[in-house]
Amino acid sequence: MKIAIASDHGGFALKTALIAPLTEIGLVKDFGPSSSESCDYPDYAGKVALEVASGGADFGVLICRSGVGMAMAANRYQGVRAAICSTTDGATLSRQHNGANVLCLGADVVSTEYAVEIAKAFFATPVDMSERHVRRREKVERAGRLSDASGLAAADPEVFEAIRAQTEQEDTEINLIASENTSSRACREAAGSVLMNKYAEGYPGKRWYSGCLPVDAAEELARKRACELFGAEHANVQPHCGSAANMAVYFACIKPGDTIMSMSLDQGGHLSHGSPVNFSGKIYNIVPYTVDRETERLDYDAIERQAMEVKPQILLAGASAYPRAIDFRRFREICDRCGAIMVVDMAHIAGLVAGGVHESPVPYADFVTTTTHKTLGGPRGGMVLCKEKWAKALDSAVFPGMQGGPLENIIAAKAVVFREWMSDEKKGYAQQVVKNCAVMCKTVQDRGYRIVSGGTDNHLFLVDVKGSRGFTGKEAAAALDAAGIVVNKNTIPYDTESPFRTSGIRVGTASVTTRGMKEQEMIRIGTWIADVLDNIVDVSVQERVKREAKELVAGFPVP
Ligand SMILES: *Cc1c(COP(=O)(O)O)cnc(C)c1O
Repeated sequence: MKIAIASDHGGFALKTALIAPLTEIGLVKDFGPSSSESCDYPDYAGKVALEVASGGADFGVLICRSGVGMAMAANRYQGVRAAICSTTDGATLSRQHNGANVLCLGADVVSTEYAVEIAKAFFATPVDMSERHVRRREKVERAGRLSDASGLAAADPEVFEAIRAQTEQEDTEINLIASENTSSRACREAAGSVLMNKYAEGYPGKRWYSGCLPVDAAEELARKRACELFGAEHANVQPHCGSAANMAVYFACIKPGDTIMSMSLDQGGHLSHGSPVNFSGKIYNIVPYTVDRETERLDYDAIERQAMEVKPQILLAGASAYPRAIDFRRFREICDRCGAIMVVDMAHIAGLVAGGVHESPVPYADFVTTTTHKTLGGPRGGMVLCKEKWAKALDSAVFPGMQGGPLENIIAAKAVVFREWMSDEKKGYAQQVVKNCAVMCKTVQDRGYRIVSGGTDNHLFLVDVKGSRGFTGKEAAAALDAAGIVVNKNTIPYDTESPFRTSGIRVGTASVTTRGMKEQEMIRIGTWIADVLDNIVDVSVQERVKREAKELVAGFPVP
């Protein structure tokens, strides 16, 4: 057992007296002070709190005259639960019920002998893991979710209100938007950090400004981890979003007017793959490919025939609303035959690739672009991976080609998330996302709804609500929204409705899986979706589902 101890001048004598008896219990690390000269208690509370928060110590002991100032200061640190204990009973309860990990003692309150007894009781008592205590401790941490922004409650109440409302919405709704996820607290801490203060035009080691050592370290971590996680030769982690990542690739390897062959937007492609209203459609000659009318899947032979005729400079694979696995090996063959540069936009499936549940495009593609906030679950941002031979062209396309200073706080958050993905837990998460999606999809399908392509291989599925029940995706999404289930309207292949009305809805399981939901919950949610859509004009069904959904999500707190 590792114990970190510190005091201020008022607690110095008791600290000195406690070190010998505590050394019999565990390994004691003294964080000072080394004399009884006047000092500031928050400085010492902070040292011990950080040691405990980082896992360097199992327990902390902090001593001042009352214990109060030490507890206040230590409790400002995430993961620290500091308790002032003046009796052995109090020490026991603070462990059992509150899971306290820092013991605060008042030198004016307890004798040395009794302080030793209190400490012994504190260290010896296990944390009570029964459901109600776990729940209450979680609520302590959850309040912390809003406390992320609690300074704003006074500094800017209007912005605070928007954050409070978003927090409440995440807490109470079932989010099935396939392009969204829920970030970890660690990711949000990096994203909201002081790294946002730094201008760092250029790349690590080659910046235009002084003082870039800290951000260089963060960006280097992000680049290295991205390459390791995806097995890539080179990574550029600076693009501000997925669209910017795509722009950087086009700028790096083709000229205005060149031809890009990409998946048609109304069949599942993305704006930045060549929509006429997007820069991509304005600058480049876009030739769309489509899915097969019968199977609603990519027909690789048809794509090959088309590519041999069109001879595009870029053949782009990847989509925003395609429920099936994509065969990247086959795309490589086609590119080799028609002489195109192979670009894969894995924005939606990056987490599935990182988790090994979708084949990786990285070995095949010249460039792989992605967002970091979809199945990957990180900060809103973009990234490009490429073969070494494209590294220089890519880096200069991003800077100075199209961006100024990078968002180093967001880059640090990307690094945090890449590290999270190296754990087995995340691999399990990716598998669960896909399992959950298959189960929810089947539940809806079994209620008589036509699923585009007949099912799903990944984290999303598309329901043809028009073909199944005669109303539009817009109407379906609105009814589900009223029932606390958030999806988006989406065109389906060969849709006869406008993109504003659509025939379909898109449903994804990345976010609910992040909350810890499994197959059982997917069956309940799929059943609710069918209940609401079967009775689309019946407000009472929406109200019932909303009530039941709220109850369900209460058991699955957002991280
Ligand atoms: C979401 C998405 C993007 C771009 O995302 P932004 O960060 O919103 O620019 C690019 N490509 C595909 C396939 C996407 O699904």
